[in-house]
Amino acid sequence: MKKVLVFALLVSACGRAPAPPPAERPSILLVTLDTTRFDSIGPDAKNVQTPAFNAIAARGLRFLQAYAAVPETLPSHSSIMTGLYPGGHGVHENARYLPANLPVLAEQLQKAGYRTSAFVSSFILARRFGLARGFDVYDDALPSGSNERSSRATTDAAIAELAKPLGAEARGANAPRFMWVHYYDAHAPYEPAEPYRTQYRAHPYLGEIAAMDEQLGRLVREFERHANGPAAIVIVADHGEGLGEHGEAQHGSLLYQATMHVPLVIVGPGVAPGTNDTPVSTRRVYYTILDFAGVDATRSLRDAGRGGRAAAQSGAEAGEVVLGEAMKPFLEYGWQPQVMAVGGRYKAILSGRVETYDVVADPAERRDLGSGAELPSDARKALEDYPVPSPSTARAAETLDEDAKRRLASLGYVSSGAAPVVRKDAPRPADMTAMMDVIERASGLFADGRYKECIPLFERVLAADPHNIDAALRLATAHSALGENAKAIQMFQRAAEIVPDSQDLRTYLGLHYVRVKDWDRAATLLDQVVKASPDRATAVEALATVKAKQGEMSMDAGETDQAIADFERTRTLQPSTFSHDLDLGVLYLAAHRFEDSRAALDRVLAPHPDDPMALFKRAQVSVLLKEPDKNARIDLARRKADQTTRALIERERLFR
Ligand SMILES: [Zn+2]
Repeated sequence: MKKVLVFALLVSACGRAPAPPPAERPSILLVTLDTTRFDSIGPDAKNVQTPAFNAIAARGLRFLQAYAAVPETLPSHSSIMTGLYPGGHGVHENARYLPANLPVLAEQLQKAGYRTSAFVSSFILARRFGLARGFDVYDDALPSGSNERSSRATTDAAIAELAKPLGAEARGANAPRFMWVHYYDAHAPYEPAEPYRTQYRAHPYLGEIAAMDEQLGRLVREFERHANGPAAIVIVADHGEGLGEHGEAQHGSLLYQATMHVPLVIVGPGVAPGTNDTPVSTRRVYYTILDFAGVDATRSLRDAGRGGRAAAQSGAEAGEVVLGEAMKPFLEYGWQPQVMAVGGRYKAILSGRVETYDVVADPAERRDLGSGAELPSDARKALEDYPVPSPSTARAAETLDEDAKRRLASLGYVSSGAAPVVRKDAPRPADMTAMMDVIERASGLFADGRYKECIPLFERVLAADPHNIDAALRLATAHSALGENAKAIQMFQRAAEIVPDSQDLRTYLGLHYVRVKDWDRAATLLDQVVKASPDRATAVEALATVKAKQGEMSMDAGETDQAIADFERTRTLQPSTFSHDLDLGVLYLAAHRFEDSRAALDRVLAPHPDDPMALFKRAQVSVLLKEPDKNARIDLARRKADQTTRALIERERLFR
């Protein structure tokens, strides 16, 4: 409808019937600013100059109450790219995967004829995590040995793409472009390049923002110059940064404004410049861009400027309750889940109990209004109905390889891999901020392999939160890495008390019993694991080793039947690498199981036909089984004999 109108206007304005306009749909630039607080960028920002952002914002519509869906990079971007809250797309934490069956923005634009490209600046958004679908170009290249790149380097790459000669692409030179550029500068550590380092010595975080702003200006200029027609620009942050507010240094663990309230600006055809103070979720970036592309205008923010303040107050634009979540402390440590709902000027956080704030009058959220009688009833209902993910299913998709784990760890994302215990009386993350700092420091040391230093810190965590499976596992792992096997075993046992049905834990514990040569305990545990999950290669391999070890010991002790049972189990577990067929042949012979002995010895002789001991034993079996070729076998054993078997053969009465 809208498109037809625009077209009609064009026709009448020109006074003659033109050829269809070549690029009626705008090229679209989406810039996501990682870790950028609302109050750190824009005309009202304090202690920082962001001229590029300000100039762009002056041309467009700036939202004064935009909210991230999750204060973490991958989940927040997943909402921006799908239009869904985490309950819909399933990505509640970093290091998960966006499911392949969800429609994503780039795919839709590609289908609509857009040329699509993306330039990301952190490993957190690498192709493997699922956001690359629909992009003709997905540039996640990072400098070697690094897990992030500067906004300058990312901008260089994006501009190089813009400057490429047109025509080679399938969608043609006149096709509009959709480009997504992600800047990671503001993420900790705060180390801005000069001149910002000097200029913002007192506020290095703001120095990063200022440096990024310079690149934002460069990018937008070049994008518009190459647009070959109208351009639309969307600038949004994925989340803010705590900077110590409410006890949170960085982001991801709490739902306060410092990390949830973010900048959002849209510029483009049909957007009236101005500001809008309606609460909106950044997930609506998805709908807004589809609207710019002429795909679908539902839920777009493009018209939000027209109503402005009046619309916000009448609720016409506010129609939707804005939601958010921070499940990381819940999924990692089993602390209370955290859910947020914003309705009008009130924001409520549900985490064990409800906190409510008037974020317009009290943006620092110092006055908790309690259970929230002020909150609109639809917001209250949304808060109560919010779907809390199950820790086990939220983690089920995890199949990270070692390299990815190492790289994520170097970025501070370390996960123990075991689902936490969910408790009714679990601590509220907001009450645990002192512990979060300890956990953060400990995790950093752990990721750097500084095990000795992280142990006392994790011990403090476990003392404060005795059900913290993550801390218990990392303590156990740290002791293990230091070769302190007894302590490692003790801590794995403690972890197994917290999560009694974890096969992972049984496996780790079993492997440590192997290390300290506690074969019986190792065998019992690993046996349980292998019976429950026969595909668990590490457990199978370890159990095979243990059973072989036990077989040898039983054999030495003259316990023939036990030794046979142990070796047979080893062979069942790992038939391809089994190396005790000679032992088995001898044991079967001693147990008068001649047929079994023959089979075992033949398995030795197939790859090693000259093995003197196997030939000797096989000849004995041959006589006992009265095989027709028994004499030939005795001759062969004699001919191939070594010192040991020669003496045995001479004394063997069966051969006379
Ligand atoms: Zn982020």
